[in-house]
Amino acid sequence: MTTITRSLKSVKALNEAGLIDAPASDRLTPVGERYAVAITPDIAALIQHENGDGPITRQFVPDLAELTITNTEREDPIGDEAHSPVPGIVHRYPDRVLLKAVHICPVYCRFCFRREMVGPDGNGTLNREELDTAIAYIRDNPTIWEVILTGGDPLVLSPRRLSEIMLALKVIDHVKIVRFHTRVPVVEPQRIDDALVDALKASGKTTYVALHANHADELTPQARAACNRLVDAGIVMISQTVLLKGINDDASILADLMRAFVETRIKPYYLHHPDLAPGTSHFRLSIEEGQKIVAQLRGNISGLCQPTYILDIPGGYGKAPVGESVIRQTGDGCYSVSDFTGKSHKYPPA
Ligand SMILES: *Cc1c(COP(=O)(O)O)cnc(C)c1O
Ligand code: SF4
Repeated sequence: MTTITRSLKSVKALNEAGLIDAPASDRLTPVGERYAVAITPDIAALIQHENGDGPITRQFVPDLAELTITNTEREDPIGDEAHSPVPGIVHRYPDRVLLKAVHICPVYCRFCFRREMVGPDGNGTLNREELDTAIAYIRDNPTIWEVILTGGDPLVLSPRRLSEIMLALKVIDHVKIVRFHTRVPVVEPQRIDDALVDALKASGKTTYVALHANHADELTPQARAACNRLVDAGIVMISQTVLLKGINDDASILADLMRAFVETRIKPYYLHHPDLAPGTSHFRLSIEEGQKIVAQLRGNISGLCQPTYILDIPGGYGKAPVGESVIRQTGDGCYSVSDFTGKSHKYPPA
């Protein structure tokens, strides 16, 4: 197998690199015209290894099903627009804001919830003036305790650009936490070098990195080493995973992933129910199916490995935990609570 050394950024490039054949390339061209495509060399190597189909292939290689839009899907599935006071800022909760400095990613996930906003033709990266306005918004709102850099993928920015943003946050006393949401440690691990780590920490604030990964196969030795460099530098890592049909909708696959996170010193944080992004119905399962899978994790694997199952309520109403409730009132001031094997117990005991 030939080693792919450059990012593949079109259906044609995927064909030329041998990841899809010529008929597939013809079929998928309209998908590539509709939604951004990018696959890094590290991810291409995993796809080559899967040889046609598998959990990594399905996440990144376009599929004809993306052209099917169902009537519940929407361009802005989680309602970012409803809470954007200035370009690049989403302020939905009182104590934290999203800062979307960049709209490009090193890879484009086929199920992306922001697929109408990210990509080379997306809303573009904030220019200097817009970035100044966004920082001023944070400075002028003392309830903002945490700034969450997302996008796009903020770790595609150069260390110099990232440091500039971090130094601007450094002087805002009420900001105590800076969090980055990224896929870079997995999809482009060599990017996590000393210069980038220093840039991430340049705010002097407590720094979190939330790693987006959906299958244990993504946590290659190189990816784990990249995460080690972050954690060794004093950055706290948490995970986010999207529950995806045909990729990780199985308790043992999720258990392997959550254990791989914990082994890498990444605390499992959120397991997202897939959002109603256009052309993603082939990835979606029902909430009930999701609840069943999540319930199988409880008790069977370490408490360290338990993510919270989350639904982002369409329209901009925020996130809600949607795991099955294990406790109910029985009317006599008592409760019935079920253990991890499904057996019910009275609380307090009679
Ligand atoms: C998801 C999200 C956050 C972060 O939520 P946490 O529950 O703190 O992880 C913040 N703001 C917006 C607009 C979000 O969509
Ligand atoms: S990395 Fe995140 S923002 Fe970028 S395409 Fe994937 S899901 Fe979307």
